[in-house]
This record gives sequence, C-alpha cells and structure tokens, in this order.
Amino acid sequence: MTPDILIINSLLVPLAPDLPETMAPGYVAIRAGKIVSMGMMADLLPGQSAGKVIDAAGKLLMPGLINCHCHAAMTMFRGLADDLPLSVWLYEHIFPAEARVLSPETVYWGTRLAALEMIRAGITTVADGYFYEDDAARAFLDSGLRAVAAQGVIDFPAPGVPYPKDNVRYATEYIDQWQGQSALVTPAVFCHSPSTCSAATLRAAKEMAREKKVLFFIHVAETRDENALIRKEHGCTPVQWLNGLGVLDADTVCVHCVWLEETDLDILAATGVKVAHCQQSNMKLASGVAPVVAMLSRGIPIGLGTDGCASNNRLDLFGELDSTAKFAKAIAKDPTVLPASKALTLAASGAADVLGMRGAIGGLTPGMRADLILLNTNQAHLVPLYHAHSHLVYTASGADVETVIINGQVVMERGEILLFDAAEVLARVRALCL
Ligand SMILES: [Zn+2]
Repeated sequence: MTPDILIINSLLVPLAPDLPETMAPGYVAIRAGKIVSMGMMADLLPGQSAGKVIDAAGKLLMPGLINCHCHAAMTMFRGLADDLPLSVWLYEHIFPAEARVLSPETVYWGTRLAALEMIRAGITTVADGYFYEDDAARAFLDSGLRAVAAQGVIDFPAPGVPYPKDNVRYATEYIDQWQGQSALVTPAVFCHSPSTCSAATLRAAKEMAREKKVLFFIHVAETRDENALIRKEHGCTPVQWLNGLGVLDADTVCVHCVWLEETDLDILAATGVKVAHCQQSNMKLASGVAPVVAMLSRGIPIGLGTDGCASNNRLDLFGELDSTAKFAKAIAKDPTVLPASKALTLAASGAADVLGMRGAIGGLTPGMRADLILLNTNQAHLVPLYHAHSHLVYTASGADVETVIINGQVVMERGEILLFDAAEVLARVRALCL
C-alpha cells in the first residue's frame, strides 16, 4: 500500500537494539501513524510513490525524544526566581506565583508554549504533571504532542482544587474524562511528594491509579532536607516510607531519586519502580547528583526529564543527555561508566519503558508509532561525523532539529510549525505574563 509519508536519503539512526548505529542512505515509510517499513535506499522499491516525500539528504533521522518529567505550564515562571535553595525557591517564590497566576487559561497557554519549545527541540512525547491538567491535556492535543498528562495531587489548597480533601476525587474525574479519548494524550496521577501528601492521600491515589490502570508519579528523595524531614516524621527514608505504604510498583514513576541509600536501591529494583532523572534541575537547585549508574546497574529503568522550566530553565533533552553522561563520568572518575549509546537510550527506548510505552515509541522499527525527528547535520559543529551517537549526546542541541513528525503527522517541517500558529502562542503568553 502507498505510504502517507516517505522519507528518503537520510542518515538513519534507528536506536533499535538489533539494528546498526547508522544506516545510510536510508528511508522510512509511514502509514496511518505508524512506521510500515524502513531500511537502506538500495532496498526501496524503484519508483515507490507516497502521499508526501521528504528528501532528507544531509539530515539525520532518529526517533523523537521522550521527556519523562515536566511541569509544562511552568514556562510561565521561566527566569522568575533563580539561584535559590529549593525550599526558599518553592515556598517563597513558586507556590505564591502559582497561587497568583494559575488559571485554566494560563495553564493552557503556558503548556502550549512548552509544547512549542519541546517540538522545536525534537521532543515528541512528554510526561507532564501539574494542576488544571485538563487544560494542559487540551494544550498538548492542540499542539500535536504526545503526552502522559498527570493531574497533580497535594495536601494543600491548590490551583483548581481549593479543598485538599477533594484532590484524589478531582484526579479521578480527570482520568475518567481523558481515558481512551485520544491517541496522543494518556491521563495519569501525580502526587507531589512524600512530604506534601499524607499517607492516606498517597494510598488513595495509588489505589485509584491501580484501578484505572494509569501511571502514578511522585517526586522522591529530591533533596537532603526531604530525607531529613521524612526520617524525623517516620524514622526511615522516603523510598522506605513509600514502600511501606504499598505505592511502589512497576506502574510508579519516582522522579529525582537523588538521595538514595543502598536499601533504597534494592527496594526500587525489587518493586520494578521506574525513575525519571532530571540532571539539570538537580544541578540548578543544588539538590545533588542522582546515582544514575548505580540504578542502571541494578536494572532500574531510567528516563531523562527536563523538569519544569522554572528549575532548568529550558526544555531541551539534548542538554540533559550531555550533562547526564558527563556528570556520571565526573562523579565516578571513570569515562567508561555511561557511554553515549547507553546514555541515548535514556531519552529513547529506556524512557519509553519508564512511561509504559516500550515497543510503541523510542525507536525506529516497523510497527512502531511514527514519532521521529530530522536534524540538520550540515553545520560546523556536526562535521565530521564519525559516530552519530556521540554527536547526539555531546554535540547536538534542540536547535539542530528541523522536522518533527508525531503519530504520523508532520508538526514541524524545515523549522516551520505547520500545525498551529507559533507566533500566537508567544503573543498569548507574553500578554498573560504582563
Ligand atoms: Zn518536578
């Protein structure tokens, strides 16, 4: 059958275990939102037609990147308060700003801005967690970005949830509303942290997540202060506390996991928990450095996240790849601990695993969703090109991405956003942030 889209003459970087690092010149054929065939140009049927042909000579073609942790609408707070300890930053700046600014409208447009920034940087899937998540989910859908969109749960009066006793019920209604509604948006629940959610809230939220078969996200062991607080209140580490509550399993994603003891690593591995690692956010808030290599060596699946814009301050996974790979080496004083090829999986197949989407996204093989990106390699910093994986981790940036296809839909082509009016998104956010 004729493909909807045929991409030809590309430097293919499939990031698939059974395929070589590069295939060139290569092609990918897309039909009904999926990759239907791919391989070397020499194997393409002569005269193969398609609804749309993209000549990708001079371009690197790879799976779209997967951002495992974001608070998208926090683009509204980019650069608002920097260079502060997490507790001061969160309680004196971010929480008050959220209380003042957040509304369905600001979350919608803040999320549209984040989606625009992520698409431009080659991110095709994001795991988001915030308030007014219904509006965030609409924003992802309107942007053409694949999202696991999780409603935030916290035991404080929160934007859209003035009475904390309603928080899990509100999240349940949100999930009911979105489940099965869209190929792009998957709903989930996000409990803020073990120190901001009670035992009863955590248990109720996880029970609901199990019943609805959705992912349960939570920030865990982000700072030394958090560990001290949980130890004071409960006499154990945050991971041990959550494990005792029964909320850790293969459908739980623990975000950060910076301050882990050996027994915590054992618990994460034994329960099958997934981890979202946010290198630059941890660096900027001076939270510490997560034991990425120790987690990987125990088989704990890890995906990279940008975290929200207020603590990063950009949504570019190429930057996370670079800093994660380099920090792991610097901490271990061993340049071999996290090679480029392994690091790349943390934004591709490994990240897909974290979000329960292994085999569907994060690689280029027939049958997978057509989420892919094209980078322009005809630039000074990408010449010469010996090892594509090396360039993607240590050299490339989001600005090198030219074309983005999500679920078989061309969202950006040669730097131009086709699906929506990008200028309107910037104008709306500027007006709302005045
Ligand atoms: Zn976060």
